[in-house]
Amino acid sequence: MANFNTHLMGAMAVSGLTATALTMTGMFPHQAVIGYFVLGVIGGLLPDIDSPNSIPVRIAFAALAVVAGFLLIFAFGRRYSLVELLVLWLGCFLLLRYGVFVLLDRLTVHRGLVHSIPAGIGFGLTTTFIAYHAFNASVLHAWLCGAFVTLGFIVHLLLDEFYSVDLFGKKLLKSSFGTALNLGSLNQPIGTAMLYLAVIGLFLLCPSPRPFVELILDGGTYRGVTQRLLPGETWFSDWSRHLSPPGPPSR
Ligand SMILES: [Zn+2]
Repeated sequence: MANFNTHLMGAMAVSGLTATALTMTGMFPHQAVIGYFVLGVIGGLLPDIDSPNSIPVRIAFAALAVVAGFLLIFAFGRRYSLVELLVLWLGCFLLLRYGVFVLLDRLTVHRGLVHSIPAGIGFGLTTTFIAYHAFNASVLHAWLCGAFVTLGFIVHLLLDEFYSVDLFGKKLLKSSFGTALNLGSLNQPIGTAMLYLAVIGLFLLCPSPRPFVELILDGGTYRGVTQRLLPGETWFSDWSRHLSPPGPPSR
């Protein structure tokens, strides 16, 4: 089983790489790319929110509650007074930290349905839904936000799966193999069915993913990235130009 640090590093590496590739396309403002990166990292920590007794999860959840409060203020900042905003912020924090957190603790078994591929897709769709409807994000932006959450989530499941493979022992697969990267749970047929229904419902509530799919399928998106995959003749060419001694003075 991968630990908290491994998950943090894995999610940061994959979302960092993807966010860097997005920056290279030159199509997205920097603030948006930083936002995607943060969402990818949050996605990478989400699958273990069903084990609320671990300290990192508690910290991550409290941080999430604070961030959510700020997002709420950004969304309503121009409309309400300071006191009203503080009430909103506090309400959001308390609801997440003590409402949702306690509810999750009661309802979920660790490595249950929350730790599955459809849950990862559901969290991504929820993000897209919130970004589009609550924060007036563009369709493309909303889908990218959701895609990063799901990406981080899947990286987490893959890491858990890799760490269940004992490469050096005689027994190749630990008993936990196959429990991390799953499509649901046969032990919880009703819960699994409801999860799939929720995913379908969320998809229908989200805006059409067409601009996002077109971006992903368009070869032009990757052209700038693939052309600059490796350095040219010299590494950091504009730096070496500055550092090399000046040539003979021109006449
Ligand atoms: Zn996990």
